[in-house]
Amino acid sequence: MTEIRISGGAVHDPASDVDGDIRDVCLRDGKVVDDVGPEARRIDARGMVVMAGGVDIHAHIAGPKVNAARKLSPEDRRDEPHDRTEVLRSGTGGLVPSTFATGYRYSLLGYTTVIEAAAPPLAARHVLSELRDTPMIDKAFLILMGNNQVLFELIRESGGGVSPPLRDAVAWWLEATGGYGVKLVNPGGVELWKQNNGQITSLDDEIAGFGVTPRQVLEAVGGAVHELGLPHPVHIHANNLGVPGNADTTLDTMRTLAGRQAHFAHVQFHSYGGKPGGLPRSRAPELLEFLSAHPEITVDVGQVMFGPAMTMTADAHVSAVLRDLDGGKWLNHDTEVETGCGIVPYTYKAGNYVHALQWGIGLELFLLGQDPWQVMLSTDHPNGGSFLSYPKLIRLLMDRSFRDDQMRRANQRAIRRTALLDGLDREYSLNEIAIITRAAPARRLGLRDKGHLGIGADADVTIYHDRADREEMFATPRYVVKGGEVAVEEGDLRRSDDGLLLSSRAAFDPEVSSVLEPRFGDRYTVAFEHYPVWDPALREPARIVEAGRS
Ligand SMILES: [Zn+2]
Repeated sequence: MTEIRISGGAVHDPASDVDGDIRDVCLRDGKVVDDVGPEARRIDARGMVVMAGGVDIHAHIAGPKVNAARKLSPEDRRDEPHDRTEVLRSGTGGLVPSTFATGYRYSLLGYTTVIEAAAPPLAARHVLSELRDTPMIDKAFLILMGNNQVLFELIRESGGGVSPPLRDAVAWWLEATGGYGVKLVNPGGVELWKQNNGQITSLDDEIAGFGVTPRQVLEAVGGAVHELGLPHPVHIHANNLGVPGNADTTLDTMRTLAGRQAHFAHVQFHSYGGKPGGLPRSRAPELLEFLSAHPEITVDVGQVMFGPAMTMTADAHVSAVLRDLDGGKWLNHDTEVETGCGIVPYTYKAGNYVHALQWGIGLELFLLGQDPWQVMLSTDHPNGGSFLSYPKLIRLLMDRSFRDDQMRRANQRAIRRTALLDGLDREYSLNEIAIITRAAPARRLGLRDKGHLGIGADADVTIYHDRADREEMFATPRYVVKGGEVAVEEGDLRRSDDGLLLSSRAAFDPEVSSVLEPRFGDRYTVAFEHYPVWDPALREPARIVEAGRS
């Protein structure tokens, strides 16, 4: 039984209304407790900042697209390999590190929980295998349901709304895969693109051959997730990512779901004015206005960081467009009747109008947003930049003079078209950083034991030197405690830990199998009975979060 007392640190625990108070945090048996005995290990945190472990609500760390990106860019993987030590495995680095290096590097940053935001259910076996190989962090994945032909049929049969078979099917899919939540990526649009290069122009376009529209997919699947009471609401990558003028689509999508809980991913890529084919401009303030009137909707930003990135998305159409812009490597990967996927290595350049505008819009979303509980930190790793750039992003938010300096290096025509030059002097506090990097993501995911340091929380704690240089501070925590054991000390990993698979579960009528089986026979290359993944080596150890309890 390991007992730890973290003493004398400034605790930033916004979920418990604690803002920099000097107090002890006590840990026993993997949980935060109110006190420990005199024999407990004492960590002297005087002069340091204590937060719950970081929670990444949207990243891409496992599954076929991640693995394909590794294969596509062998040159990138040779950067900063991770050497083998007595307790750790070796691994490759770059924008898409190998599984082991991914876990180690998140842990070295003080992150203890990470969500893989887009996994094809058909590839659950692969996703689970990679997540099992990703140490140090607890992890979960969201399953892609926005372009699934069997679901399209069920939606059409229900007349576009939620029906018991549809609701049962969503719950069945989560159980069959070990998934945690439901993701919609360009609902209907990926199927259209796969058919004949088609695109969604409005949420009421019919998805050819299926008799349903993107709006019906949003309402039916979003409604099913809502009715099932899953711990995390439907997680949406809206239609028309990256297209000038797409703020109209984003707002229409938000209005369609308004009144129901929903999380919108990487909204920076969905906040553009202008006309398709023309130059984008920012409509971030309008989106934020909508959000402030709709507390049931949350977002993560998807900040672009200048430098190399690896775009990887189930929105296969977007990759085809990027490839035309870039002319470099491109990989398209079809997941038969479920979804698509594309990968394009990419570089965001400060001097480029569009890239500088994207950078500026991301910062607008952070700095003009009124409620940090609603606007969470992400770079859509590795799409807008690596998770390793989070410390620099935190410095951009906390340090105005650093931000102004970076702004001067960016394309000025673009920056002038944002609100950044309007004397935007906001600097995030440590508590606000704690909200956008752990408290809000954990709450939104329905992970009651994470993102805070109240009694009963998981003993995932990150302790930072309180440095003036916030980038250095957040890049090199002094200690990281995972599950009640010290994992990182002085920038060194001290132990390996498998981490938990987090899955969610909702009750469903087992008779749904008789609805699904013939449809699988008609459409899938995989037999229905071979589709679910029950292998305990892949499914356990796990923590199951029951629906309806968040
Ligand atoms: Zn993403």
